[in-house]
Amino acid sequence: MNSHSLSTSPDETPDLNLRGTLIRTLFILVVGLIGVYIVGMSGAHSYSPGEILHYLFKTAPAAVQSTINYYLDKVFYKYDFWAVLASTGFLMIIAVALALLVFEVFYYWKKAGNFRAGMRETSLYRFAFGSKSERTDLYLFLYYALSLDGLIVMALGLLGPFLIFALLVNNVHIGIGQYLPTWASFLLFILVADFLAYWFHRFAHTTSVLWELHKFHHSATSMNLLTAHRNHPFEVAMQYPLRAIPIILVGPSVPEFLVYTAIHHAIILLQHSNFNVSFGWFDRVIVSPRFHLLHHSSKPDHFDRNYAVVFAFWDDLFGTRYKGEDIQPEYGVTANYFNQRGFGFDMWAPFKRFWRGIFRKPIKLG
Ligand SMILES: [Zn+2]
Ligand SMILES: [Zn+2]
Repeated sequence: MNSHSLSTSPDETPDLNLRGTLIRTLFILVVGLIGVYIVGMSGAHSYSPGEILHYLFKTAPAAVQSTINYYLDKVFYKYDFWAVLASTGFLMIIAVALALLVFEVFYYWKKAGNFRAGMRETSLYRFAFGSKSERTDLYLFLYYALSLDGLIVMALGLLGPFLIFALLVNNVHIGIGQYLPTWASFLLFILVADFLAYWFHRFAHTTSVLWELHKFHHSATSMNLLTAHRNHPFEVAMQYPLRAIPIILVGPSVPEFLVYTAIHHAIILLQHSNFNVSFGWFDRVIVSPRFHLLHHSSKPDHFDRNYAVVFAFWDDLFGTRYKGEDIQPEYGVTANYFNQRGFGFDMWAPFKRFWRGIFRKPIKLG
């Protein structure tokens, strides 16, 4: 019926085969780097790796100052994605979330044929009358929507990753996009950003210390639109330096960056909603709710599958797509210590376990 059931039977789920996929990734990176080098050679505005290093160290004090200035004076800089992200980007996130929350009400109303019965299925109802897990989703959404992550992370002294992001984005510019037509530049930007998101997510599952943080995202025992934002702030902080890479490499315009933010945001919200639907053949291209809901499943058959964030084909390329028949996920993690002792505990425990892991036993097997 759908594209999932075509390929293999459930017990033929392939092994993770990390080595093979790392070799493929390395190959793509090498080809990519050669490409970057060739394009870089042809333009007067690009920098060699040596120049980038020099630039980094030389301009560090200015970058630190610009970040502090932003928080003190809310000053916009010429190419300051940090500022754009922290202001307009988050307003858009709220708007997209609200639109989808309202859409859910109408969708379930129509489906149930009765407003009250339909309402019980919606994310809105769950936040008001639901479990602790659902309440946690709401807290975290408000936290990110109000852009508190930057401020709180700074307050906690975890400034590093944010500073690296601001420093890189404001001072290093390769900008392959300027040699390409607008559509190609935009596509390349999304592809690079999403490729990195796939790999960060995969490492978050296969590296024990990162898993301690990412486990919080997976500890949700029911899914709804806002589960998308149920991320540990420290895990989000660590992704910031990574987010600088596509901006530096491709150099999108501010509107392009905002369009990407909106698309990315709509897709991550949808994929966490409790509509367990696939997009049919389009599942090959874009991550559907079913694709990601299976990623959240606590059934061992579904483990370590479907890491992609926006484009689903990364999982085909790197051999991690779930190809089994079982499309009924069960949500949560094994030994789920979350959702019981309060929000503060749920925030603190992963953080503590992360650092304990750093100093004791870094790598999980398998
Ligand atoms: Zn995950
Ligand atoms: Zn998720």
